[in-house]
Amino acid sequence: MSTSTFKNRCVTLVCCKFCDSLLCTRGMKAVLLSDTKVELFSTDIPPHSTVDFVASCYCTESCKCRLKDIACLKCGNVVGYHVVAPCKPCLLSCNNGHFWMFHSDSVSAVNRLDPSGLNLLLWGDLPETESSEDEGTGDLSEEEYIR
Ligand SMILES: [Zn+2]
Ligand SMILES: [Zn+2]
Repeated sequence: MSTSTFKNRCVTLVCCKFCDSLLCTRGMKAVLLSDTKVELFSTDIPPHSTVDFVASCYCTESCKCRLKDIACLKCGNVVGYHVVAPCKPCLLSCNNGHFWMFHSDSVSAVNRLDPSGLNLLLWGDLPETESSEDEGTGDLSEEEYIR
């Protein structure tokens, strides 16, 4: 699967369902590889300013990815998880470069529109990185190179 298959996906705003705060502006709808009935929203940029880690690393039963739950900073509810260290099969198969996941039952998502306001904004239209509110985040890469 090449990354180009993700380019015609809609970009979504992801909001916390519990307190309505905006969690991230670069969401992508996804399904869990191990259980395609489970819907998720993923993002590629660490949403450090809106979520925080809770508890410690754990592994799923289906694979060896190391995960860490993330909770909304405002209300403290768990809204998803971060893939701290993806396992090899996942890295090879499902990789859209997104290691931050939001549970679809904990968040609400709104499709973003392009600058004209007429069309849906697609991932192919997005710049590689979008430094909107977060300026000076030099620590993005701390987890990116764990194998
Ligand atoms: Zn919240
Ligand atoms: Zn895995």
